[in-house]
Amino acid sequence: MRIRENVSIAELTTMRLGGKARYVLIAETPDDVQKAYDFAKEKHLPVWVMGGGANTIGRDEGYAGVILLNRMKGIFVRHGDELIEVDQASSEELGDEIILVGMGGEIWDDFVKFATDRGYTGIEAMSLIPGTLGAAPVQNIGAYGQDVAQVIEEVKAYDLKDNQMVTLKPEEMEMGYRHTRFNHGKDAGRFVIVSVAVRLKKGELKPPFYNSLQKYIDEYRETDFSPKNIRRMVSEIRNGKLPDPEQIASAGSFFKNVYLSKDEADKAEENGIPIWRNIDGTGKVNSGWLIEACGLKGQKLHGMRVSDKAALVLINEEAGGYFDLEAARAKIVDAVKEKFGFILEQEPVEISSNA
Ligand SMILES: Cc1cc2nc3c(=O)[nH]c(=O)nc-3n(C[C@H](O)[C@H](O)[C@H](O)COP(=O)(O)OP(=O)(O)OC[C@H]3O[C@@H](n4cnc5c(N)ncnc54)[C@H](O)[C@@H]3O)c2cc1C
Repeated sequence: MRIRENVSIAELTTMRLGGKARYVLIAETPDDVQKAYDFAKEKHLPVWVMGGGANTIGRDEGYAGVILLNRMKGIFVRHGDELIEVDQASSEELGDEIILVGMGGEIWDDFVKFATDRGYTGIEAMSLIPGTLGAAPVQNIGAYGQDVAQVIEEVKAYDLKDNQMVTLKPEEMEMGYRHTRFNHGKDAGRFVIVSVAVRLKKGELKPPFYNSLQKYIDEYRETDFSPKNIRRMVSEIRNGKLPDPEQIASAGSFFKNVYLSKDEADKAEENGIPIWRNIDGTGKVNSGWLIEACGLKGQKLHGMRVSDKAALVLINEEAGGYFDLEAARAKIVDAVKEKFGFILEQEPVEISSNA
């Protein structure tokens, strides 16, 4: 376990905001998790778990505690009770259906690439989502019609309540839209995810596809729906509208979409708001559409900019600190509330000593 002191949270997060964290502990093995908590306990400090910081916002006051950075690596195929390193796996072990297991510090997109390169379907539409594998189940990441909940087999996690390693099955994770047992309710923050297993099959997605993907497919008359080609298409769509975290500071979608009951969806539709309907009539409003309809797309607000390509993305162009983000957020939330009556909810979490 490596230890760093007085580290800028801005350095650790893609939004690049935030003061200093007192300690950063870099966990490279599952044992390091226990060690990090022992270290923090000895110093009477709180612990905050972080992967790639792509869904995390730092505040100006920093964090008077220990940030535990998950950097545990390794991708395996499960064969019976055995975990086989993917490089060593035989073609029999890489069969038509596999359970692919990755350590929590693996980069999510490397995991997706590994699967799609070998023809496995199930996660290809989630190509290029920044961050680590260990964070993927936390908010149940999703894109273009897929989410992690659809493929998850189990996670191994360190349970901070009972101080032991546990295995959690999907039915114990309460997974919904950006909402799980890991980030909501009494167990939020209780588990440090050490590894994630997903069940994937050789094969391909069938049309019709999620709207913007389908649009691309129609426009370019694509007929190859192999995982590798879906990955290529999704990457192209994303590169055209989402900021590359290496170049541009953001946390991706800054607000969640708004979910509506059937009655609310009917009413919103009567008022000219486009609704994505579920079979049961309930619906979803794209918050980016609401922000754009308020005339905010591309606008600069307090050093932050509402992306001119995707209004749901808030870019840190030259914010002086968290206070600028706070002011920009208030402007957007107020504008949407005033025009449509919807209250936008922030997607990224904020590091706080009170959490
Ligand atoms: C440009 C851009 C595009 C994005 N596009 C998408 C998208 O299409 N779909 C989508 O769903 N998200 C998207 N995101 C958000 C982000 O990529 C995901 O939320 C991702 O899972 C964050 O991973 P991370 O490792 O950076 O998490 P972090 O920001 O480090 O952590 C996020 C949360 O998970 C917790 N956490 C992290 N690791 C662990 C662990 N091992 N155990 C327990 N808790 C943990 C943290 O405490 C925190 O609460 C995007 C972000 C950016 C910057």
